[in-house]
Amino acid sequence: MTAKTKYRHDAEDRVIASVSIDEITCYVDEDGSPIREYTKEERDAAQKESDAAESYPLTWEEIIKLDPRVSDLYREICGVKDDKSKKSFCANTAWYGDGFKDDVGNLVGFSTKPKQPNRLLRTMKAYDIVYGKCYGALPNCRNCGCYG
Ligand SMILES: [Zn+2]
Repeated sequence: MTAKTKYRHDAEDRVIASVSIDEITCYVDEDGSPIREYTKEERDAAQKESDAAESYPLTWEEIIKLDPRVSDLYREICGVKDDKSKKSFCANTAWYGDGFKDDVGNLVGFSTKPKQPNRLLRTMKAYDIVYGKCYGALPNCRNCGCYG
C-alpha cells in the first residue's frame, strides 16, 4: 500500500505533510521527520504574527532591500527578450516552464525554500508584489495561442 502525501501549511507557514500510512496519520515536516500538532494557543499566536506581517505596508523597494536575491531574480527576468526572429514568444512558457514562478515562490510567500528568514517576506503580500513585478517584466505573449 502506498502512502498518500498531502501538502498543507501550518499556522506558521511551514509546509507540513499529512501522511497516512495504513490507519496511522502523523504529521511530518519537509524532511519527513515527525512533528507534533500545535496547540490552540500556539496557532493563535502564529496567526497574530501572520496578521501583523500581512498588514505591514510592504513595498517593492523595501522587499529588494530586505532580500537582494529578489532584485537579482527581477534583473534576470528583465533580461528575457522576445526573439523576433522566432515565430512566437510565450510569457507563460517562460514563467512556468523556465521556473521563474518557482523562483519567486522559493524567495517569498508561504513556501519559501530554503525558508526565507525575514518574516515580512513570508507573506502573501510579499508574494503578490514580487509575482506581479516579475511577471510584468516578461515581454508580452506573441503568436503563442495563450489568449486565442
Ligand atoms: Zn503565451
